[in-house]
Amino acid sequence: MKIVYSPDHALHDPKTYFKSGKFHVPQEVPGRAEALVKGLKEAGHAIIAPDDFGPSPRAAVHTPGYLHFLETIHERWTAAGMENAEVLPNIHPGRRMSSLPTGIVGEVGHYTIDMSAPIGPDTWKASVASSNVALTATRHVLEIDGVSSAYALCRPPGHHAFQDIAGGFCFLNNIAIAAEYARKSLSRVAILDVDVHHGNGTQGIFYNRSDVFTVSLHADPTDFYPFFSGYAHERGEGDGEGYNLNLPVPRGTRVEAYLPYLDQALTALKSYAPDMLFVALGLDAFEGDPFAGLGISTEGFAEIAKRIAMLDLPTVLIQEGGYNQDCLGENITSFIAGFEGAMS
Ligand SMILES: [Zn+2]
Repeated sequence: MKIVYSPDHALHDPKTYFKSGKFHVPQEVPGRAEALVKGLKEAGHAIIAPDDFGPSPRAAVHTPGYLHFLETIHERWTAAGMENAEVLPNIHPGRRMSSLPTGIVGEVGHYTIDMSAPIGPDTWKASVASSNVALTATRHVLEIDGVSSAYALCRPPGHHAFQDIAGGFCFLNNIAIAAEYARKSLSRVAILDVDVHHGNGTQGIFYNRSDVFTVSLHADPTDFYPFFSGYAHERGEGDGEGYNLNLPVPRGTRVEAYLPYLDQALTALKSYAPDMLFVALGLDAFEGDPFAGLGISTEGFAEIAKRIAMLDLPTVLIQEGGYNQDCLGENITSFIAGFEGAMS
């Protein structure tokens, strides 16, 4: 399998992360991608660098105002003498507040959904590189006749980023950018999100469309990030009605009990019959992940991958979460081995 990776991910090296009412040591850190790439190299995989696709693929998904915000806010924040070295909100618009103020504090609140996506001096560069990794993997699969696959080692991850909102460690929605890019030459594509967290940004971006089917399996969000979405009743709106499928899985579910949910997703994907499949591959569904949402074992990832590969679709795997650095290498190689074993 073609594997795409850029060391530029390390340009995003967050120092602040706020949850449960307190600052914590950040979890979405360069060591994650380094652990993944080390595991892949040890397993003998060849790794290629991404190409630069320019601004148009990201502009096809995100709003101009949001892209300008991401690219310029750190410099403006620093020039304004803000106290924290990283851009971090201290206020968000409530349900009855819809104006975008010109002041920096309000602007940061407007374009972020939580306090887990701090913007440092080079977060923008790392995010652009991450989206180029996803695009390079996608172009590779598009260029090959027949069924092929590629893996994009994206960092920062992307599936919590909306058209104009950052959050949940995500800035540019890599999988949405890649799917939209593929849609230029294909009539319908599908996204299967197996990260432990609901792919809320991806759902939001395609919620009114029938040409991109979004499916997400995740830990029940009742008391789990992202809390406000990921429920089964969210089926899409307008032209998109019926083209979003959420399968919340009870917290702590292990692979044997997870597989029927996966099979339900795969049945829906089969009947949609997309030209290409994108998998939002979060390895934070792992039993040893600090988020402790689901209980998938290393061998379980191989079984999940095998069943996805049996759809027999051109497939792009896009890295999302996964925070147990000690096990990321073996989990990604287990997933890819399971996937390749079923394809051959
Ligand atoms: Zn996640």
